[in-house]
Amino acid sequence: MKIVNKIEEIKALNKELKKAGEKISFIPTMGKLHEGHAALIKEALKYGKAIVSIYVNPLQFGKGEDYDTYPRDNDGDIKFLEELKADILFIPLENITAETATFVVNPYLSNILCGLFRPGHFQGVLTIIMKLFSAINPSFAFFGLKDYQQYIMIKKMAEDYYPDIKIVPVPTVRDTGGLALSSRNLYLNEKDRKHACNFYKILSNTASLFNSGEISAEKLTLFTTLELIKNGFHIDYVKIMDKELAYEKKATENGDILLSAVRLSGVRLIDNIFLVRTE
Ligand code: AMP
Repeated sequence: MKIVNKIEEIKALNKELKKAGEKISFIPTMGKLHEGHAALIKEALKYGKAIVSIYVNPLQFGKGEDYDTYPRDNDGDIKFLEELKADILFIPLENITAETATFVVNPYLSNILCGLFRPGHFQGVLTIIMKLFSAINPSFAFFGLKDYQQYIMIKKMAEDYYPDIKIVPVPTVRDTGGLALSSRNLYLNEKDRKHACNFYKILSNTASLFNSGEISAEKLTLFTTLELIKNGFHIDYVKIMDKELAYEKKATENGDILLSAVRLSGVRLIDNIFLVRTE
């Protein structure tokens, strides 16, 4: 696996690969890689040469958030990526957003759901992704459905500015108890990590209620909220929206999505589930 540190180098490599007729698959990450990231990389390898970036992007952390303590493990990540047979790893050594004067913002989507609790976060995400897309110019880019709001915003940004980049969503990878894998799960102690599995169990129970005929979004979100509170989660939000996140639902329809963010012992967890009728 080739490791590249400079944006000029990655641009040059990318030109070479394109000349050789290769398709480029891009997987942006913040590192401390786990099986969730691995799912993206495995999928990406099916489409072309896999370029993975690891960059803890200061722009997407708010004041008082965990930028300084965010888990970092370049040596472990390099081993992990070599085993997966990723082709290129891009680890910018300098702060590539320090001089950024132009920001990308989706005024509506930045200010709903997680955006209400993390002001400036999505502007930071979109800005770095735009910077990376411009440097790498991939044919495909891979994003996890765990971060659903992020996926939708990037999909829309690509439709507006990078119509040649296909955004590929990858289903959420969970541990055996159902907890969505996340680098931040390391902040949970063993007891909380086990308890955190109840988050997805509760969302799944709500999905079952929908499946058995309940369509009132008010009742479904109230049920979710009460169960979460009963189980000791502090709630940021519980919402049912259409799958493009254009509007909040009153009457839930097949294919809508239930999204939630909670805090457990001060650790923020996000998750979501599609509401699907199978009966
Ligand atoms: P991060 O390193 O947390 O910024 O995540 C990088 C990419 O991996 C994003 O597209 C995430 O949505 C995706 N990702 C993180 N955790 C998971 C997971 N458990 N399952 C699937 N994708 C994930």
